[in-house]
Amino acid sequence: MSEVLLPYAERADGRLVRVEEVERGAACECVCSECRAPVIARKGDILAHHFAHAASESCRNAIETTLHKLGKQIIRDAGWLWVPGYSIDSRPLIAATKVTATLVEIEKGIGQIRPDLLFHRHGHVLAVEIRVTNSPDIAKIAAFRALMQPAIEIDLSNVDRNSLEQLKSEYVLRDAPRAWIYHPTIDSAAAEDSCRRLEGLHPALVEWQRNAPDRIAWLKAERQRRERLTHSIGALQRIQGEISEQIAELLHAWPGPDILTGGDAVDA
Ligand SMILES: [Zn+2]
Repeated sequence: MSEVLLPYAERADGRLVRVEEVERGAACECVCSECRAPVIARKGDILAHHFAHAASESCRNAIETTLHKLGKQIIRDAGWLWVPGYSIDSRPLIAATKVTATLVEIEKGIGQIRPDLLFHRHGHVLAVEIRVTNSPDIAKIAAFRALMQPAIEIDLSNVDRNSLEQLKSEYVLRDAPRAWIYHPTIDSAAAEDSCRRLEGLHPALVEWQRNAPDRIAWLKAERQRRERLTHSIGALQRIQGEISEQIAELLHAWPGPDILTGGDAVDA
């Protein structure tokens, strides 16, 4: 694995910083967000400035973890973000809105889960998840539903890993794909929608139920008719067998003129 070059590293206070913000070399006193190992700030004259692991050269997920942390930091610093809208059958249910928080908490536990961010506003709380690589966590979705906790997901999986330093805060706050993970209004509207669809099926179900006794009676009669038919065919086959045997016996006992051709049996 080639050397991982990071545009951001973590300062002692937990904040991600750019290489321009710190001292050169090990004096930067920063660590890698993923493995927590010390990094050095390389600020040469030729290559682009970056952080590199001081000891190890390989660190899986360093970029993903940095991006995930950067997304959270951008939202907390801004204190605002755009929440997505939601429609059912082109009927708008929730309008896309810019919301400003009075307080943003990172990795604060609620119930059994620890959302990436909690966005507080006028006594309401919105959970925000930053998606970098993982697909939606089913257990987490269920937990948001159990808590009736509105939650959105911001998808940063398309961000170019080779140019994290160019990630614009507007992309995270407004432009990146985002969707509702859970909202009570969406949930109840979806439930009502399912009920309506079931009611649409209702007349057909009533019709089917009304005809059911006739159908069952017809099926029973049909089965009996088939059984009788099978029985009759069996009887006919037995009779045919017996007749064949009798004919064979007659032919054997009387090998004279062929009785089947109706020839004269009297000797000349
Ligand atoms: Zn690392």
